Amino acid sequence: MIVIHRANKGGQFVGNWRIHAPRLDDEVCTACGLCASFCPEAAISTDEEGKPEIDWRFCKGCGICANECPTGAMTMVKEE
Ligand code: SF4
Ligand code: SF4
Repeated sequence: MIVIHRANKGGQFVGNWRIHAPRLDDEVCTACGLCASFCPEAAISTDEEGKPEIDWRFCKGCGICANECPTGAMTMVKEE
């Protein structure tokens, strides 16, 4: 389980900046945790299986998680 504390990075309510949002393909995700490590807003934590969970209050839609994902499990989609 990865928990990155918002005292060290992030912590701002930047969810309303989002134009594109990360979408997870659970079948493709290998639970490597890289997306959580790279997220500049500490918006991603991982569940007990190591799969990412996004706190939408802190996700600004920058796309770094999708860019760093080695399997293509995380992709960016235009938010409705
Ligand atoms: S798009 Fe991904 S890396 Fe960027 S803030 Fe949202 S969860 Fe974090
Ligand atoms: S980087 Fe990709 S494969 Fe790794 S945990 Fe995140 S979504 Fe899953």
